[in-house]
Amino acid sequence: MRRISALALSLAAFAGLSAASAQAAQLRGLSLVEGEDGTRAVLELSGPADYKLFTLANPDRLVLDLSRSSLAGGFKPPAPNGVVSGVRTGKPAEGDLRVVFDLGRGVQPRSRLEREGDSARLVVELLGNAPALAGKPAPARTVEDVIGKGERKLIVAIDAGHGGKDPGAIGPTRKFEKDITLAMARELAKQVNADPGMQAYLVRDGDVFIPLHQRYQRAREAQADLFISIHADAAENTQAQGATVYTLSETASDREAARLAARENKADILNGVNLGGQSGDVSSILIDLTQRESLNISASFARLLQREAAPYVPFRSSYHRFASLMVLKAPDTPSILFETGYISNADDAAFLSSREGQSKIARGVARAIEVHFARKLAMRGRTAGG
Ligand code: ZN
Repeated sequence: MRRISALALSLAAFAGLSAASAQAAQLRGLSLVEGEDGTRAVLELSGPADYKLFTLANPDRLVLDLSRSSLAGGFKPPAPNGVVSGVRTGKPAEGDLRVVFDLGRGVQPRSRLEREGDSARLVVELLGNAPALAGKPAPARTVEDVIGKGERKLIVAIDAGHGGKDPGAIGPTRKFEKDITLAMARELAKQVNADPGMQAYLVRDGDVFIPLHQRYQRAREAQADLFISIHADAAENTQAQGATVYTLSETASDREAARLAARENKADILNGVNLGGQSGDVSSILIDLTQRESLNISASFARLLQREAAPYVPFRSSYHRFASLMVLKAPDTPSILFETGYISNADDAAFLSSREGQSKIARGVARAIEVHFARKLAMRGRTAGG
């Protein structure tokens, strides 16, 4: 019913056409460019195609139907940008291609088809049809808000563990955890920033000491939508190897997780911070309801991280553990701590300190982040009925 009324209300069709082409066109690329007067969608086509544009309301969408067209292999929809909160493709009829732009508000589309040799470029201008509201919009807090409002990129806080006077774990060949984590964080930031819809925020970008609570506070000030703390573990057993993802819990999932938390939380003791008086006992972290929601998201991201990164990074069989890690204490930012492997293990140490290993780890984490946000976008699409 909702769908019908949306169609009836706002079927404002904008017909566009080109020289009728017998050849079927392929959509090779689609980019979203944010300009002063609105967002522009630029579609790269293998050749000219007849097309039709129309808008739908509740929720606002722009639909582009390309006749006798299909997606080129390897086509990747762009990340949200400007007024566009998502791009989906489908087939309205056999042989035709539909591109749906989910919009943060109504727009007045204007289009033109440019020929370039055999190929063609379709430019669709998404001009705002209402003057911008005075004053600053309220900052978006949830990922759904950010995607819906399309007013800023999704922000990923990347926290390189340790630093400065706190070297973290030290490997047998005098490799410092703090150096490995910084190199990995920078590589991950590069890969996150390659996605036009995301922006990395490096909590630490140098060999400096930052107390644990300041790390998540900085991330919150940066409006981070996700917090990823990067570490490398060390164990007396040099056979121990593989990656583990930690999320926050009042009680540790096992004795090993408890020991790890004690080790990682030591950074604050180094700085003379009193961790609650009870002789450095940090096991008790009160968790309220806001935090519980964040914890659920964190836990699902932990599972996703293993699934997406496993092709690139060896994980331990019990890869998701819980511990009372101070750095994950932000109440409203989904947070995980990624122990990428053991620098006390020869194979892991070589992998973690190599460019190739760092790039693979970053690839796996970046993929998980993309899927995580894409899921949010898909959920929003479903609840909005579009
Ligand atoms: Zn660490």
